[in-house]
Amino acid sequence: NRLSAVSSSDIKKLRQPIVTVLGHVDHGKTSLLDKIRGTAVVRKEAGEMTQEVGASVVPRSVIQKVAEPLKNIIPLKLEIPGLLFIDTPGHELFSNLRKRGGSVADISVVVVDVTEGFQKQTFESIQILRDRRVPFLMAANKIDRVPGWQPNPNQPFTVSISRQSKEVQSRLDTLIYKLVMDLAQLGFNAERFDRVRDFTRNVAIVPVSAKTGEGIPELLALLAGLSQRYMENRLKVVEGPAKGVVMEVKEEIGLGHTIDVIVYDGILKKNDILVLAGLNGPIVTRVRGILVPKPLQDIRIVKTDFVSLDEVVAAAGVKISAPGLEEAIAGSPLYVAEDESRIEQLKKVVEEEVSTIKIYNKDVSGVIIKSDSLGTLEAIVSAVSGEKIPIRLADVGPISKRDVLEAKLSEDEAYRVILAFRVRPLTGVDVSGVKLISNEIIYQLIDELERYIQEVRDRERRRTLESMSLPCKVKILPGFVFRRSDPIIVGVEVIGGVLKPGTTLIDKEGRQIGQVLQIQDKKKSLERATKGMEVAVSIKSNLMVGRHVNEGDFLYSDFTNDELGLLLKKFKDVVTNDMMEVIEETVKIKRKEDPLFALSVLN
Ligand code: GDP
Repeated sequence: NRLSAVSSSDIKKLRQPIVTVLGHVDHGKTSLLDKIRGTAVVRKEAGEMTQEVGASVVPRSVIQKVAEPLKNIIPLKLEIPGLLFIDTPGHELFSNLRKRGGSVADISVVVVDVTEGFQKQTFESIQILRDRRVPFLMAANKIDRVPGWQPNPNQPFTVSISRQSKEVQSRLDTLIYKLVMDLAQLGFNAERFDRVRDFTRNVAIVPVSAKTGEGIPELLALLAGLSQRYMENRLKVVEGPAKGVVMEVKEEIGLGHTIDVIVYDGILKKNDILVLAGLNGPIVTRVRGILVPKPLQDIRIVKTDFVSLDEVVAAAGVKISAPGLEEAIAGSPLYVAEDESRIEQLKKVVEEEVSTIKIYNKDVSGVIIKSDSLGTLEAIVSAVSGEKIPIRLADVGPISKRDVLEAKLSEDEAYRVILAFRVRPLTGVDVSGVKLISNEIIYQLIDELERYIQEVRDRERRRTLESMSLPCKVKILPGFVFRRSDPIIVGVEVIGGVLKPGTTLIDKEGRQIGQVLQIQDKKKSLERATKGMEVAVSIKSNLMVGRHVNEGDFLYSDFTNDELGLLLKKFKDVVTNDMMEVIEETVKIKRKEDPLFALSVLN
């Protein structure tokens, strides 16, 4: 009764490909994985059940059995020992399967609800897979919900589709064609798998139902067949020291801090020296236990009890217990040092990998990013940079006093933000004065950040606009001189533009008259007066009405070249037609003194 599908005594040429499942929420990722695991449990042979941590193996024999009816379409002679499915679907965990410049995942299934088609996370999943250069199949799920579908439980799709009516067949084709178009938009050629001639050029779409099990045989056969055929080099088992990636850091009763690891290369042994990333620099420790769940007949029973193995061969999902893992970081690379002389070098490798993701730019006015793992940190940094938003600091771990301090140091108010992904402020850390944005879905986190930045920009814009004088032209109403000097108080009509307190007025010769102190209408003071309004204004001025200025005179607001430029560039929406006329008139007046006035901003 072996605990691992492959132990070092029977190393085959190739290891199991590591398979991930991605896709939009509710499209059936979890159901599909359950169905696949269920298939594996039911169809396994005695003693073949393998237990993994964070992953499930579908052994070769099961794939061969379920694919038996397909041998005409998908001839399968399996050399890989099976498929290793990562248990947790979705891109948050996928990002922790990171490996420099790529992914630990060998192949992926993008699940899409065929009745709904592509959704936001479908596009995102494919983009992530493309970034990490992971090939994928598309599972067009929920075919049992195509109107009129007659279910044929657990049958191959090719069998089930031949038993459907012509209408149902063409309904499904229409839905699949929509997926083909969406994939084409992303630059992928795609076809229903049974119409694909060249799998290196086409994405295969496999219609399935996670509910009835239809299409699961083809999905498994294609995953196995394609990875074995096109990834031979990647899957060759190397008998060297293990390489892996930390998926999760967990505290277990009686074991202390442990790490759940996917070993993707080599052999991991008890007492091996491990090097991995920690919150405060690389951790070096020795493997105390390599743990997998106790073998169970039914995979659905909660995995609680562990048994210890002496060694495992890639690919495998195991829990490692070892001293000093309190500060281990999820998403960290993990290396085994063959002997002590290699430790320093591996520490450097780990440090370098971590430093390509973490950011600290003390001269940058930008946002702070804190995340629970290296993988998610990398994904968020990439998304934020993609939106051209500057980053001051990006790190793994809870929000500390220093993070708040750094956030406050950003010159730009819009960037005094801490983006938190599955982390919280340490107790006693006061985040007032900075904007804390947390969300457990990366794209929503970024959306919220963008909304916030926009809010701040709008606020800034309003503030600037409020503090600016605007072009205007007024006429001093004959018979409405209330005070001749210091301050002058007269009644005016606004001919065009907007009159505001603080506006400096000039006459038609360009001579400065004074600054508007107050605008009043029926004893109420106004912040602005627009075209057609008749108001009383007080003007701080050394001049005198009757001597320097006269009833019936036109006055204009004064502005500089730069002020006009700002208005026309940033606040075009407040420049009404009457204001534009006033601007042109005022510019003519100003050009008497300065012939080049506003040449650069008006054309
Ligand atoms: P996830 O969020 O992508 O993991 O989606 P789930 O696996 O949780 O599925 C979401 C819902 O769709 C659940 O109510 C499932 O029962 C249902 N569902 C999943 N696959 C199928 C399918 O093939 N057919 C039908 N009819 N329902 C499905």
